[in-house]
Amino acid sequence: MKLHEYQAKELFKGFGIPVPGGRLAHTGDEAFQAAGELKGPPWVVKAQVHAGGRGKGGGVKVVQTLEDVRKAAAAILETPLVTKQTGPEGRKVHQVLVEEGVQIDREFYLAVVVDRARARPVMIFSQAGGMEIEEVAARTPELVLKQFVDPNTGWMPYQARTLAYSVEPLPGPDTLKDLMALMGKLYKAFISLDCSLAEINPLVITRDGKVLAVDAKINVDDNALARQKELKALDDPKEKDPLDAKAEAHNLNYIRLSGNIGAMVNGAGLAMATMDVIKLAGAEPANFLDVGGGASEEMVTRGLEIILEDKKVKAILINIFGGILRCDVLARGVLAAAEKTAIKVPLIVRLEGTNVEEGRKILQESNLTFMVAKDMADAAAMVTEQVKRSA
Ligand code: GDP
Ligand code: MN
Repeated sequence: MKLHEYQAKELFKGFGIPVPGGRLAHTGDEAFQAAGELKGPPWVVKAQVHAGGRGKGGGVKVVQTLEDVRKAAAAILETPLVTKQTGPEGRKVHQVLVEEGVQIDREFYLAVVVDRARARPVMIFSQAGGMEIEEVAARTPELVLKQFVDPNTGWMPYQARTLAYSVEPLPGPDTLKDLMALMGKLYKAFISLDCSLAEINPLVITRDGKVLAVDAKINVDDNALARQKELKALDDPKEKDPLDAKAEAHNLNYIRLSGNIGAMVNGAGLAMATMDVIKLAGAEPANFLDVGGGASEEMVTRGLEIILEDKKVKAILINIFGGILRCDVLARGVLAAAEKTAIKVPLIVRLEGTNVEEGRKILQESNLTFMVAKDMADAAAMVTEQVKRSA
């Protein structure tokens, strides 16, 4: 689960990480009001969306007058924000963060993430902050420093020294001390909030030597939300893809992808194998959709509806190995979805397992048009053929 910058900053503040004074606003007038209560000029108006790269996309504006705060906020709220991470259609901005402007002297990158290979948190630090860390890592990998953290001992002071004393030229002693302390606080926040990512980019040193988190990003591990109830309440449904939200509401494991073959499968392993055979046959899956081993007729229906609502989908492959989810239940679910939404794209079905005869019969006796594949490779070849034909 992703949090907004203003939410992440509020949480960071609770861990003693310094952030600029700020207020949330939903209109130009509110932004004008908010800035009036903050120190300035300058003020900074920042789009609150779950996407990075806002600076370059025009979603962060530094302004000098209250009237310009109003104008900047209104402009950001008016048109969808397009950044490297939003896709060309952009993202509607529902709220902006108005902040006290900061006189920036230097910009750093600081983050804690989980390193999967080493199965432990890693603190990443770079003195080439402000830019995208991926770019820094690609161009000047020597500027990206890492400290792996033993979860048993936690973050150690020597690790903070290793990172902080790499900075050239070295900041003054007070600034350096604050920088090292901040690393410990960020690690504490990361662990306490069950984060998968806690990032500050840029972490700045101001002209008067203060260390400050000018940007903030937190991703919370979804698996921890059961015990992080306060964080769960920060979820913003407006930021979600509507199809993702629908899948979540019906307990379907759904991930939208960029291809054009909609696939409905039961079981994560079979779903991954299905995506592989689709690719092997030369096409691209439009989604990962695992309706789950014990899916009900209702879940099958919702799953197919989600695929049908995706305008990119040019053909559908249903690949079910009936076990706990019986093939007849699947068939009834498919028919229910077809009754609600006409299936206008080719449908290829591959059924095996429990009650397969009954499942096939239900489909055959319906007025649904579909093709039967004899095995997975055949199914992938057929669906790829259909997509190529429609192109
Ligand atoms: P992002 O592009 O989505 O990561 O948004 P950021 O919050 O990182 O802002 C982008 C850039 O705007 C930062 O790297 C800073 O250089 C600049 N910026 C943000 N806040 C201030 C500020 O208070 N003063 C100044 N001068 N620049 C700022
Ligand atoms: Mn940033």
